Amino acid sequence: MNSVVLPWHQSAWAQLVSRVDSNRLPHALILIAPSGSGRRLFAEAFCAYLMCDEEASKPCGRCKQCLLYASGNHPDVMVLTPELNSKAIKIDMVRRATQFVEQTANQAKATKVVIIEPAEAMAPAAANSLLKSLEEPPGKTLFMLIAEPGASLLPTIRSRCQPLVLGTAGDTEAMAWLTAHSIAEPQHLSAALQLAPGRPLYALELHEKGVPAWRAALEQSLPALLRGSVSASEVAKLAATQPALRAIQVLQDAIAHDCVQLSLRGAVSELKDRLAFQQKLLPVIRQLTGTSNPNELLALEYVFIEFAKLGQGMSDV
Ligand SMILES: [Zn+2]
Repeated sequence: MNSVVLPWHQSAWAQLVSRVDSNRLPHALILIAPSGSGRRLFAEAFCAYLMCDEEASKPCGRCKQCLLYASGNHPDVMVLTPELNSKAIKIDMVRRATQFVEQTANQAKATKVVIIEPAEAMAPAAANSLLKSLEEPPGKTLFMLIAEPGASLLPTIRSRCQPLVLGTAGDTEAMAWLTAHSIAEPQHLSAALQLAPGRPLYALELHEKGVPAWRAALEQSLPALLRGSVSASEVAKLAATQPALRAIQVLQDAIAHDCVQLSLRGAVSELKDRLAFQQKLLPVIRQLTGTSNPNELLALEYVFIEFAKLGQGMSDV
């Protein structure tokens, strides 16, 4: 058991280390795991492992290489992630990385490492500009692409990388990690974990942002909105205290739950209304995920006004 590696990643870690020991480490890997499951920690720990000067118990955390790595300024490591307020890894970033691996490694016997997270954030042009380096990397190079399970990646990228599926945290492991990293009440942590199963790091972030309590309040306000006892703009204001897409996810979950109940009852007309409402959400989601800077409160007001219409003519919800 390596103490810098999360318990649910130990088996993947052992596989990688055994490949290093037998000189079978590929020059390009795709680490497959959901965000918020600790996948970046895994990549960074492995990067530190490759850099560390010690012979055993790597990464030691004390040698010159480990300290350099921990400072975030290791000259043989480059991390590509979308810039702030952007969702894409752009072509010029990838070009910088390919130039970086072409330069001679700065440290003696060093491997150059490029971490790309998430790999699916590379647009096709950016991904294409990476192909040559993936195919014939100069010197000792390791590309670690990090991707969601089921992410859509160019087949040419996939075929040049060895996939490694990182393990997923079970509920017990995830709760043990959460209670070790937060002083919050276990039931609150557990509520956050229910929103992010297998992703304890993301669950902790959700808890710290107050998402479970916000979500419960928003869910409670939906029947009131359908009855007309609260206004769409009031609900939108509550919803807008979190990112708009999160509120839309709550609505989608509520609608999906409704649709199951309605189809069991054979309530065709109400079912149709809900499916039509789901269609109205699609352009809003496109707008919110697009590159423009939409007014989230306005978008939410529209969505809740439309949602409230589902309650018209209903005597009891
Ligand atoms: Zn070290």
